[in-house]
Amino acid sequence: MARVEFRQVRKEFKDDHKGTFTAVAGSDFVIEDKEFVVFVGPSGCGKTTSLRMIAGLEKQTSGDIVIGDRIVNDLHPKDRDIAMVFQDYALYPHMTIRENLSFGLKNLKKPKSYIDEQVRNAASILGLEAMLERKPRELSGGQRQRVAVGRAIVRDPQVFLFDEPLSNLDAKLRVQMRVELGELHKRLGATIVYVTHDQVEAMTLGERIVVMNHGDIQQVASPKELYASPRNMFVAGFIGSPAMNFIDAHIEGTQVKVEGASFTLSDDVLQRLSAYQGKRVILGMRPEHIFGDDVAPNIPQDHMLQARVQVVEHLGSENLVYFHIGSRTVTAKVHPETHAYVGMDKTFVLDMRKAHFFDPETEMAIG
Ligand code: ATP
Repeated sequence: MARVEFRQVRKEFKDDHKGTFTAVAGSDFVIEDKEFVVFVGPSGCGKTTSLRMIAGLEKQTSGDIVIGDRIVNDLHPKDRDIAMVFQDYALYPHMTIRENLSFGLKNLKKPKSYIDEQVRNAASILGLEAMLERKPRELSGGQRQRVAVGRAIVRDPQVFLFDEPLSNLDAKLRVQMRVELGELHKRLGATIVYVTHDQVEAMTLGERIVVMNHGDIQQVASPKELYASPRNMFVAGFIGSPAMNFIDAHIEGTQVKVEGASFTLSDDVLQRLSAYQGKRVILGMRPEHIFGDDVAPNIPQDHMLQARVQVVEHLGSENLVYFHIGSRTVTAKVHPETHAYVGMDKTFVLDMRKAHFFDPETEMAIG
């Protein structure tokens, strides 16, 4: 059983000048056996520190870390039965690929026949058979990345830890490697913990995602749930591209009012918002749920508003149209045939069935 659990895990760094800095502020989560979990969040949010604590490369200030059925707080990294793939691959340049793959097992004094078998197996899984006698510099970036993964596979660990493994690859190769890593997870049937700051990578790879900010866990959920039901404005704004629009609004009777328009709400939404009658809320609308009136699906007519188009970006498969509601700039991701040009007074349609509402003070989702 290769589950990983954090129980109130906290990490503080002592700083000569500023005193104590809290990088991880008391995390609780469980990663189930064979699960692919991604830690995601902006730079400095504590994701790498969390991963390094699982690996034992960093010791938590307080709390317990469990791998399998053992509390591993005092266990050396090499005794934790984990393998880590680093961002820079950390390959030995003077060794061949075969030697790079064998190195860790030789250090563990494994028999040669076992090492050969493990290297053969990893090379076959990763398509590296023809490259075993080459040096790392004779490989492409993607192939080097595979060798780094291969070094983890030969160890046959309980848990794989990946720290931004694709960040040194160009965009196209990153997409290809992302697909390969997803397939690898299915083949290996292993527990994988994966760190990235890229929400697209997180959404495509993770079975569940841990969203972090400033050392705090914001939400742990499946990609679908994060997109459909973000807990707060941070998660709502972080997941999805372009980001969710946040529009100042207030609730009056059966309507939500924004500057220049008001929309009738359904009974169940009104019920959710009952504590906010006559009060301010933040209306969250994803760009893909705002349409031009000329190319709109079947949405009730009173969910329209007029605004002047500020910018149009043509992306081929869709257009991004920017306009203002009050002081906020709003982005609509519309069908490329939508008629819109800068300066045009355009009618937009908002799919209020997809609307999110947040408390303006706490920034938490309402209902
Ligand atoms: P990135 O995506 O930039 O790698 P991250 O989410 O992985 O960011 P961490 O590397 O976990 O962030 O760092 C979390 C915070 O802890 C950062 O503010 C960082 O500056 C701080 N930190 C990390 N390691 C140390 C250290 N050894 N000493 C002091 N502060 C540290």
